[in-house]
Amino acid sequence: MALIVQKFGGTSVADIDRIRNVANRVAQTSDQGNSVVVILSAMAGVTDKLISLANQASENPDKREMDVLLATGEQTTSALLAMMLKQMGYKAQSMLGHQAQVMTDSDYGNARIIDIGASRVRKLIEKDTIVVVAGFQGEDTKGNITTLGRGGSDTSAVAIAAALKADTCEIYTDVNGIYTADPNICPKARKLKMISYDEMLNMASLGAKVLQIRSVGFAKKYNIPVHVRSSFNEEEGTMVVSEDSAMEQLVVSGVTLDKDQARITLTKVPDQPGIAAKVFSPIAENNILVDMIIQNTNIAGHTDITFTVPKADYKRTMKLTEQIVKQTGAQEALGDINIAKVSVIGVGMKNHSGVASVMFNTLARDNINILMITTSEIRISCTVEEKYAELAVRVLHTAFGLDTEE
Ligand code: ADP
Ligand code: ASP
Ligand code: MG
Repeated sequence: MALIVQKFGGTSVADIDRIRNVANRVAQTSDQGNSVVVILSAMAGVTDKLISLANQASENPDKREMDVLLATGEQTTSALLAMMLKQMGYKAQSMLGHQAQVMTDSDYGNARIIDIGASRVRKLIEKDTIVVVAGFQGEDTKGNITTLGRGGSDTSAVAIAAALKADTCEIYTDVNGIYTADPNICPKARKLKMISYDEMLNMASLGAKVLQIRSVGFAKKYNIPVHVRSSFNEEEGTMVVSEDSAMEQLVVSGVTLDKDQARITLTKVPDQPGIAAKVFSPIAENNILVDMIIQNTNIAGHTDITFTVPKADYKRTMKLTEQIVKQTGAQEALGDINIAKVSVIGVGMKNHSGVASVMFNTLARDNINILMITTSEIRISCTVEEKYAELAVRVLHTAFGLDTEE
């Protein structure tokens, strides 16, 4: 008998009919003689709606109360599924994050799991009960409700699978697996049979939200095989595993898009030692994650500094940057929220030249202007205007020979 953790995302529990579909799947897994622990997301769109309500209630919603509010989305679906399973004659019980002993730090809205007790879940499993755990939420050491950041129920699932030493962790979503690019943007994207933890970490960090990055980190650390698949059909999905996948042999193995980027430029900053520290220290002190940074060459003792932050932090960062302009004697702060980052990824890039030139030529052919470029050993990222970003993904996918033949 296997212990299987099954996580269902927002679209898979979007309404009562879909939750019933989930109940049938869970029941089927249980009927096959397995112990099942289910992790649920909120219904699709509910977390966004709750955030919007909070923003109407308060200009700057209190972070603790925000997490109390956001956790209700997952509470609803968990209770509904447990009710259905009971009605179908199964032993089932829902549990909130704290009841499942998901302990986190106190970083509201983006809390990290520090420990999962899981003894209460285990006791129920031993009594042949299907346990339905509300994903995305936990409890800090002071007993406050916390949430794990957007997409966090993936991390709940993998972390609970690790704590329970589950045989497998299945992530049910609205696509058939992990593809070479987002299949909703790039119809010619190819589904992968397997992907390594490291490759998935790269894809997730560059915008592939099919798995929250922290869930992949957990899976790698505890060596949990993760099966990403659709809740709408029986097709085998993609296994995320430790072995090097065939994918890694390719020069470019995937294309990703991250629309959650905003660009800020400080113009004519006096080019002196310590200036970058002056610019970025206040931003770091406010826990704002800076992604790309570019500094122009010195012209007559001045330089421009451009960087990107998540869209949600744009307003806050602009305010800080305006103060930095005054303190440093820079000319002005310019901002642009309509940008996106397109990346090509591939471990094989390490030993290959010419990837950058193919990327730049491909974008140029479609008249897509590159705003910023950053590179690492295994990826090249370009920011472009948001309205061209999806086109950029498609043309790059074709240019690097990733299109499916079907
Ligand atoms: P869930 O609500 O099930 O957690 P998400 O919306 O968080 O689902 O993640 C699934 C989505 O991830 C897909 O609908 C797809 O648009 C997107 N996605 C981005 N990149 C990829 C990729 N490389 N492969 C598969 N899906 C991807
Ligand atoms: N409901 C949360 C979100 O929308 C968590 C999740 O779906 O994983 O981000
Ligand atoms: Mg998700």
